[in-house]
Amino acid sequence: MESQKKFSRSFSFEFFPPNTPEGAEKLAQTAKQLAQLKPKFFSVTYGAGGSTRERTLRAVQDLRAAGHAAAPHISCIGSSRDDIREILREYQNNGIRHVVALRGDLPSGTAASGELHYANELVEFIRAEFGSHFHIEVAAYPEYHPQAKNAQDDLLNFKRKVEAGADSAITQYFYNTDCYFHFVDECEAMGLSLPIVPGIMPIGRFSQLARFSDASGAEIPRWIRRKLEGYGDDTASIRAFGLDVVTQLCDDLLSAGAPGLHFYTMNQAGLTTTIWQRLGL
Ligand code: FAD
Repeated sequence: MESQKKFSRSFSFEFFPPNTPEGAEKLAQTAKQLAQLKPKFFSVTYGAGGSTRERTLRAVQDLRAAGHAAAPHISCIGSSRDDIREILREYQNNGIRHVVALRGDLPSGTAASGELHYANELVEFIRAEFGSHFHIEVAAYPEYHPQAKNAQDDLLNFKRKVEAGADSAITQYFYNTDCYFHFVDECEAMGLSLPIVPGIMPIGRFSQLARFSDASGAEIPRWIRRKLEGYGDDTASIRAFGLDVVTQLCDDLLSAGAPGLHFYTMNQAGLTTTIWQRLGL
C-alpha cells in the first residue's frame, strides 16, 4: 500500500444517465445534495455500443452547467474508430477534459464487433488522437475480471492499460479489503505508479446487489450474503447492516492509505451521504 499514500485523496460519485425528464430532475437534486460533500468529480456511465451516447453527454453537460465537475465514461466495444473519435471530439468541444475509458460489455448473445477490442487499445487511441487533453481513468479489478484467463494475465492486461497512458484507476466494488491491498501491492511490484481508487457500492437492496455481483464477478462474502438473505423484505435492517459494513470497509481502506473513494451511487444520495457523515469526511 505504500505507493498509494503519496497520492492526494480523490472522492467521486458515479451516476447513470437518466432516461426520462423526471429522472433528470431527480439526478439534479441528487447531485445538488452530494455536491455539498465537495467531491472531486461526478462521473456518468456510458451504455454498451454507444446506446446512451446522447444521454451520457447531456447528463454531463447538465452537471457542468450546474457548476459541478463531471467526467463521462466511454466504452469502445462495438464501436468504430470514427465513432469513438467523434464522441471524444464532442467531449472536447464541450470543454470536457476527464474521461473514464472502458472496454464495456455487449448484451449477452451479441457478437463482438467494433475496431477496438480492449481498454488498452482505447487508451492508446485517445492518447494518439488527443494527446494529453484528457485525464484518463481506467477500471481495475482487485478480484480480477470475470473473463480473465487467470489472475496474472489480468494484472498484465491492467499494466497494458496503464502503460498506454492511463492517469488513474477506479476499482470494481468489493467487500473484502485484502483483495484491494494485494492488488495494489502487485501493481507496485510491477512498477506501476498511479492512484487506484476503491469503488464502493453502498448496500440498499439485496436482490439488486446479488444480481450485479453475479454479473460482475464481485464477491459478496458469505457472512454478508447470509446476513442480508436472512433479513428477507426487512429493508430497514438491510440498510442498517449495509451501512455498518460499508462504513467499516471505507474506514479500513482510508486508514490503510487508499487514495480516496469512488461511490456507485445508483443516482441516490442517501446511503452515500450517511456513510460519508459517519466517516467524518
Ligand atoms: P479491459 O481492461 O479491456 O479488460 C476486459 C477483459 O479482457 C479482462 O478479462 C482482461 O484481462 C482482458 N484483456 C484486457 N486487455 C487485453 C488484451 N490486450 N488482450 C487480451 N485480453 C485482454 N461498463 C459500461 O458498459 N459502461 C460504463 O460506463 C462502465 N463503467 C465502469 C466503471 C468502472 C469504475 C468499472 C470498474 C467498470 C465499468 N464498466 C462499465 C464495466 C466494464 O465495461 C466491464 O467490466 C468490462 O467487462 C471490462 O471493461 P474494462 O475496461 O475493464 O476492460
